[in-house]
Amino acid sequence: MLIMQPGPTPVAKEVEKVMSREMVSFRDAGFVNDMKLVVDELKDIWRAPYAFVIPGTGTLGMEISICNSVKKGDRVLIVSHGSFGDRFKDICDSRDVEYDYLRSEDGAIVPVEVIEAQLKKHNYKAVTITHVDTSTGVKSPVKEIREMLNQFEDIIFILDTVCSAGSERIYLDELGVDIMFTGSQKSFGMTPGLSIIWASEKFMKRRNDLGKINEFYNDLNNWLPVMEDPIKYFSTPPVTLIWGLKEVLSLMKEEGVEARYTRHENNAKAFSTALEAMGYSMFVTKEEERTCSLANIKYPEGIEIDDALFRENLYKKGMDIAAGYGEFFGKIIRISHMGNVGQDELLQAIAILEETMVEMNIPVTVGAGAKAFKEAL
Ligand SMILES: *Cc1c(COP(=O)(O)O)cnc(C)c1O
Repeated sequence: MLIMQPGPTPVAKEVEKVMSREMVSFRDAGFVNDMKLVVDELKDIWRAPYAFVIPGTGTLGMEISICNSVKKGDRVLIVSHGSFGDRFKDICDSRDVEYDYLRSEDGAIVPVEVIEAQLKKHNYKAVTITHVDTSTGVKSPVKEIREMLNQFEDIIFILDTVCSAGSERIYLDELGVDIMFTGSQKSFGMTPGLSIIWASEKFMKRRNDLGKINEFYNDLNNWLPVMEDPIKYFSTPPVTLIWGLKEVLSLMKEEGVEARYTRHENNAKAFSTALEAMGYSMFVTKEEERTCSLANIKYPEGIEIDDALFRENLYKKGMDIAAGYGEFFGKIIRISHMGNVGQDELLQAIAILEETMVEMNIPVTVGAGAKAFKEAL
């Protein structure tokens, strides 16, 4: 099956193999070394002073980013480009954290000046931004946001990189992000189960300044000693998942992380060109606001297409794509090319899309998609 869902994404055979090894104790010397190596490489590759690997998902990273940086009654600015940006509202609500909320027009960013104007109105303790909102495919202008944020010293910059870390070019120190996080099942191309979190010195200082917080599993200060010295115990490490992640990082280094980002950029451009040649339009109209992790597209205009049937027909031919999420259900479809999806898979996807369109009497120029894809590369 060609999995083109925004998580779980295809897992490399090498990763599956190490994950089926015989279990060892988490105090096993080999495992302790593996754990140490994984944490060090995460810090190294994403240029962060702190990295955490915790059993969980992307949502856990979101919660941790909030409850380690703000307390009940503090004020946060939530900048949202879609459903995942909105999720921070629920998280803040669950902890009685006050917030203001800015939501973009569909398929576009909230302009940086709008964020700036809002930040000047109150004493905000943190701002949350989704690097790439998977529901819309919108990518935030992180550099510009960072530059604007420089005038607000007290603000913790929370960046949700669940969709983007591993496909979009992002380095924590260079971008001055205070905390970012992902789930192993997205652009890392691993099985679900790990929450991977990077933090800055400023973030950990904020955590300490909060003093006692009403959290236990979510308290980064409980995890920090284990990340620094994995022979210590706080909560049982997910041995199998750590092996998988170690292999994932090794494959990333083998490809070269910069080369990996460039691959995603080139493939995404070529794939969107192909989709447009086939009659689809990109939900995010401005190219610079579009992610290279997945393609969120609208069906060709002027024709009635049964969305569920279309996706079902693709599935029967071995291609699994995502429907629109939340409010965008039925309005768009999402074809993910995160992680391990490469040119061969994208060409295969174009062929299956075309076949399905022909079968469903949706007008398409046969061969136009593949031609546009190859020409763009
Ligand atoms: C998937 C996703 C999440 C939620 O991650 P889970 O692993 O499903 O908990 C949060 N933010 C973004 C941008 C995502 O794509």
